[in-house]
Amino acid sequence: MTLTPLPSHDQLRRAPKVLLHDHLDGGLRPDTVVELAEACGYAGLPTHDPAALGAWFLDAASSGSLERYLRTFAHTVAVLQTPEALTRVAAECAQDLAEDGVVYAEVRYAPEQHLEGGLSLPDVVEAVNAGFRAGERLAAAEGRRLRIGALLTAMRHRARSREIAELAVRYRDEGVVGFDIAGAEAGNPPTRHLDAFEYLQRENAHFTIHAGEAFGLPSIWQAIQWCGADRLGHGVRIIDDIRVEADGSVRLGRLAAYVRDRRIPLEMCPSSNVQTGAVSSISEHPIGLLRRLQFRVTVNTDNRLMSATSMTTEMAKLVKAFGYGLDDLQWLTINAMKSAFVPFEDRLAVIDEVIKPGYAALRAEV
Ligand SMILES: [Zn+2]
Repeated sequence: MTLTPLPSHDQLRRAPKVLLHDHLDGGLRPDTVVELAEACGYAGLPTHDPAALGAWFLDAASSGSLERYLRTFAHTVAVLQTPEALTRVAAECAQDLAEDGVVYAEVRYAPEQHLEGGLSLPDVVEAVNAGFRAGERLAAAEGRRLRIGALLTAMRHRARSREIAELAVRYRDEGVVGFDIAGAEAGNPPTRHLDAFEYLQRENAHFTIHAGEAFGLPSIWQAIQWCGADRLGHGVRIIDDIRVEADGSVRLGRLAAYVRDRRIPLEMCPSSNVQTGAVSSISEHPIGLLRRLQFRVTVNTDNRLMSATSMTTEMAKLVKAFGYGLDDLQWLTINAMKSAFVPFEDRLAVIDEVIKPGYAALRAEV
């Protein structure tokens, strides 16, 4: 019997990766936060030392509460109120993802949170798009292939979701690939935004919903059966509808069975879930069981700044916790690409021309 060695950190970094759940305002470089704060006169940062600030975000976000985790975004949103800041951060996001070996990404942000400096909603979208395109070009100049699409998020405790959904449709052929709702889940069920979701369905547009992160099965059920979500942001609580018996046999409840049967993608974010207390540790993360049961599981970063993470780091944690090899990681990556919101032929092209050859090359090294 031969044992295949686990992939090294360097191999994980070089492996083609697909990211579906990443927040623009959760992925700034710490030194950029400091520079932008100084440029716009924002005095609220806990420190102006980039290394200490990075550590502060990680610590403040690791409180075990989603609400406290979300409060750390006040600082990043505060420095993202001009077109220059939005374009810079979007360009750096694209470069950082390309550097990390990400080949396709959907990065989300809430346009309504960037209006304090007098920008309009379209101004915000255009500034971010300009940054993504610039970042893609810089990455391409270094020989890295990355395509990045934007998801427009509406805040679930506010009442602008229909307007943001219309904005997503308006920019659907200019860099925006879908829609999302985010924010504190408890007390803000997705059905509050039915008008937006019904509009998107009539427009044949794609959307995902943060559901089943801090709140349980009713939120997942509403997101799918009332709102018609294409994907679930997190969805970890689907585990509450799965029973593992003492003999190891597994029974799925009706909702879990539906999610698996319909191949509904789960945008899982392991480090983030541990920080917000949704899951107690990486090794106890439901992703292990859900992968075994062949749910349409994907791996994501959520907030690279708040979790001090990257796609490579998330994969390294899964390799360590579950012993995943290249085959598992390729499966997770293809799952993500199949679930992307770009057209079918574009997804196939990335799978056939980038992901499969990339993993084959890594396997050949072993
Ligand atoms: Zn998220």
